[in-house]
Amino acid sequence: MHKEAEAEERYSRQIRFAPIGVRGQRRLGEASVLVVGAGALGASLAQHMVRAGVGRLRLVDRDYVELSNLHRQTLFDEEDAEAALPKAVAAAAKLRRVNGGVRIEAFVADVNRRNAEALAADVDLVLDGTDNTETRLLLSDVCFGRGIPLVYGGVAGSGGMTALLAPGDHCCLRCLLGEEETGSEGAPTCDTLGVISPAVEMVAALQAAEALKALTGNRAALRGTWLTVDAWHFSVKEWKLPSPVEACLYCGWGEPTAAASRELAKNEGFVRTEDDLSGEDHGDTADEDLSGEEPEGETENALPGDDSEAEKLVVLCGRDTFQLMLKPSVSLAEWRRRLTEIGCVITADNRYLLRASTVEGERIVIFAEGRALIQGAGEAERALDIYRHYLNDETRRRADEPSVGV
Ligand SMILES: [Zn+2]
Repeated sequence: MHKEAEAEERYSRQIRFAPIGVRGQRRLGEASVLVVGAGALGASLAQHMVRAGVGRLRLVDRDYVELSNLHRQTLFDEEDAEAALPKAVAAAAKLRRVNGGVRIEAFVADVNRRNAEALAADVDLVLDGTDNTETRLLLSDVCFGRGIPLVYGGVAGSGGMTALLAPGDHCCLRCLLGEEETGSEGAPTCDTLGVISPAVEMVAALQAAEALKALTGNRAALRGTWLTVDAWHFSVKEWKLPSPVEACLYCGWGEPTAAASRELAKNEGFVRTEDDLSGEDHGDTADEDLSGEEPEGETENALPGDDSEAEKLVVLCGRDTFQLMLKPSVSLAEWRRRLTEIGCVITADNRYLLRASTVEGERIVIFAEGRALIQGAGEAERALDIYRHYLNDETRRRADEPSVGV
């Protein structure tokens, strides 16, 4: 079938929806979106965008599929969990089967100051499918610096909240959440409240609807509100989004947006290596690993082996997981050898990551880009011990040397 006729048939019900029509569908096909996070919200958002027919979808996630994800993360199945596939990889494979006409770029990476700007480059809109305030604020900074809308969303328990923040029309997420919220300490999460799948889908649906309005040129139809919903004790509450705050570097009037861009531009030195995540040829679809390792001299997320060990452990939402950066020069094959030698049992091994069980039963996950997760350690102190014993080059080298007198 001719390409255009095929598209007309595929999207016929969406085109028949008057506010979208042929023109809206065409705009959608020319649009690029970034979905950050491929967990519950992110996978649902990505699916909405791909089925609706965006031109290009960029998807980034730092995690891998586990059995405990499946009750709410609708793109994944038991095979993905069994294979411990990175969520970005598993999602991209499914999405390509859903709609081969969409260019899908998947990144296995932790979004940070080093790579956020590059990830958001040349996209028209960013959808927030993350699970933490820190990354959301970073996305807000980048979106307001670039003048593109951010569709914020968050879920916990049976409810959640969402807003489309449009630079120039609304305040940024920092101003919306205010000082006390942006610390993220004490805010309810999936970890503390649990979460049910209908709550995820409600918030994702509201986010996707606003994204579709923005991308198809229906800006007048945007809600202009932030709202909270609860699927269990049914309620919907809505507030008008505040205007840009004059004093704010990111959303304020006058020069600040340009100033914000300059500030962000300083952080553009990220590490980028090409890697086809799917193992198949997708033409010009460039799947890449955007690991965003920290440049030397930075204290934040510093490489292991320096004096700030505690600082580089980042607690991730869910499953008492700690994240840290290892030396990227050590290959997965080498890690496999080392961990086996020291008594670990390898429980998953694919081209993207290695998962091992420690002698004490905790889990170590090492991604190809040199990022590691320590799961089941409980306390940060224990996670540090695991790092020192199993993952620290210096400690291990000393242990390998024969003791004097032997
Ligand atoms: Zn602001």
